[in-house]
Amino acid sequence: MTAQPIIIWFRQDLRLQGHAALAAAVAMCAPIIPLYILDDETPGRWAPGGASRWWLHESLKTLDADLRKRGSRLVLARGPALDVLSDLARETRASAIYWSRCYEPWAVKLERALHRELEGAGVRCRRFSGSLLFEPEDVRTAAGGPYRAFAHFHKACTNIDAPAARLNAPATLPRVADGVDGDRLEAWGLQPAKPDWTSGMAAAWTPGEKGARARLDKFIAERLENYQSARELPGVDGTSQLSPHLHFGEIAPRDVWNAVSRAAAGAKGGKLDEGAECLLRELVWRDFSHHLLFHWPHLTSTPLRTEYANFPWREDADALRAWQEGRTGYPIIDAGMRELWATGWMHHRVRMIVASFLVKHLLISWQSGAEWFHDTLVDADLASNCTNWQVVAGCGADTAEENRIINPLSQGRAIDPEGVYIKSWVPEFAKLPGNRIHAPWQASEDELSQARVRLGETYPEPMVKLPAARERALKAYAAIKTGAQ
Ligand SMILES: Cc1cc2nc3c(=O)[nH]c(=O)nc-3n(C[C@H](O)[C@H](O)[C@H](O)COP(=O)(O)OP(=O)(O)OC[C@H]3O[C@@H](n4cnc5c(N)ncnc54)[C@H](O)[C@@H]3O)c2cc1C
Repeated sequence: MTAQPIIIWFRQDLRLQGHAALAAAVAMCAPIIPLYILDDETPGRWAPGGASRWWLHESLKTLDADLRKRGSRLVLARGPALDVLSDLARETRASAIYWSRCYEPWAVKLERALHRELEGAGVRCRRFSGSLLFEPEDVRTAAGGPYRAFAHFHKACTNIDAPAARLNAPATLPRVADGVDGDRLEAWGLQPAKPDWTSGMAAAWTPGEKGARARLDKFIAERLENYQSARELPGVDGTSQLSPHLHFGEIAPRDVWNAVSRAAAGAKGGKLDEGAECLLRELVWRDFSHHLLFHWPHLTSTPLRTEYANFPWREDADALRAWQEGRTGYPIIDAGMRELWATGWMHHRVRMIVASFLVKHLLISWQSGAEWFHDTLVDADLASNCTNWQVVAGCGADTAEENRIINPLSQGRAIDPEGVYIKSWVPEFAKLPGNRIHAPWQASEDELSQARVRLGETYPEPMVKLPAARERALKAYAAIKTGAQ
C-alpha cells in the first residue's frame, strides 16, 4: 500500500525556497500534492484586483514550471477552500494538509474552520509561518496587548531573535499521482482579454520566484548602498521594488532580511549599514501592517481611531475619476497615477502625495482610494494598503499625519527637483523647463507655447485651488477633534 499523501496548500507563498511547510512535508518522505485554490467564494474575502490577477496568473505559471523541474506539478482547483480541501483530502486519502499562515481576517477564520472540520475527519492540519518576520503572538506590549504605534512595535521587534536562516528549495519532489487532476490555468480567466492592458506591467516585472531573487540581488548589488537617500526620489531607481514579490510570497521576508544583513555585515560598516538598517525597518513596517490588521480585523473598512468613523467625506464621482486617471492638473499627482496605471506600481513618496491629495484636498474617503489601489497595484496587499491609507487620512496608527496636508507643489519640488519623474509619465511636459514643471500655470506664455502646452486643452487646469481646499480640510478635521461633528 502506498503512503498517504500530504497536501501542500500554496497561498501567499508561491515559492519553493524558504518554504517551511514544503520542507516539513519533504522530510516526511510521503507523496506530496502541491495545490493552489482560487477561492472567490469564502465570505469576507477581498477578491484580487485586475493587476493582482495578472500577477497571480504569471506567478502560478512559474511555480508550476519550477515544480515540474523537480518531478512534481501544481494542481489547480477553484471554489471555497474548505470544500476543495475536504474533497481532495477524502478523494486522495491524504494524511495531512500543510500550509503557510495568512493574516487577513477571512483567512484567519478559514484556518480555524479547517482545523475544526478536517482534524475531526482525521486529516492532520499543520500551519507554518513564513510570510512575516515575526508572528503577531510574539510581539506584545508589557500588558500582553498589541502595539498601535510603529516606534514601539519596532523597538519590541529588535528585542526578538533575528529571523531564522533560510531553507533551501528541495532538489526533487515526488510525482503527483495520475488521476489527481485540476483546472487549466488559462480557464481561470485571470488575464484580461480585450483590451489587454498588461503590456506595461509585463515590461516592468518578472513575476515568480526567479524574478524575486533577481530583484533582491540587483537591489543589494546596485541600490542598497544609497537606499537611505535614493528612496526619497521617485526619479531614481532607488528602492527594492520587492513589494509584489513579497505580497505573493515569491520570496520570504526573512530571506530578504538575512541577505541584506549579510551584505551589510560583509561590507563592515559605512553607507551599506545605513541602507541595510533602513531597509530592515521598512520590512518591519510591513509586519506592523499585518499585525494591525490581525488584531483589528475591521481596519479594511473602518478607521483604527473610532472618532473618524463618521468623517464627512464628499461624494464626487467626477473628481475621483480625474484622480484615478491622472487628470488633476497637478503634475506630480498625475505622474504617480499614470505610473500606477501603466506599471501597477508607484513610488512610496508619491503614494503619500496622491493619497493625501485625495483625502485632504478633495475630501474623498480613504476607502475609495484604497479600493482603486487594490484594483490597480501589482503589490495590492490588504494589510499594507488599508493601514497606509489610514495613516495618510490621519485616522490610523500614526497620529503625526493627522494634521499634515501634503502640498503637492512643495513636496513635488523636493522629491523631483528637475521634473525627471514627471516627464517620464506626463509626456505633455517633455519640453517644459524643469523649474516650471510642478506648476505649469506659472510658466510664461512663451514658455508654454514653445513647449506646446495649452493649459485646459493639452493638459488640465488644476482641479482645485490648494489654499481653499486646505482650509476646507482643516475645518473638517478640526470638527472631528473638537467633537463638533
Ligand atoms: C496609500 C498607500 C498605500 C500603500 N499600499 C500598499 C500595498 O497595497 N502593498 C504594499 O506592499 N505596500 C503598500 N504601501 C507601502 C509602500 O508604499 C510600498 O510597500 C513600497 O512603495 C513598495 O516599494 P518597494 O518594494 O520598492 O519598497 P522598499 O522601499 O524597497 O521597501 C522594502 C519593502 O518594505 C515594505 N514596506 C515599505 N514601506 C512600507 C509601508 N509603508 N508599509 C508596509 N510595508 C512597507 C514593502 O514590502 C517593501 O517591498 C502603501 C503606501 C501608501 C502610502
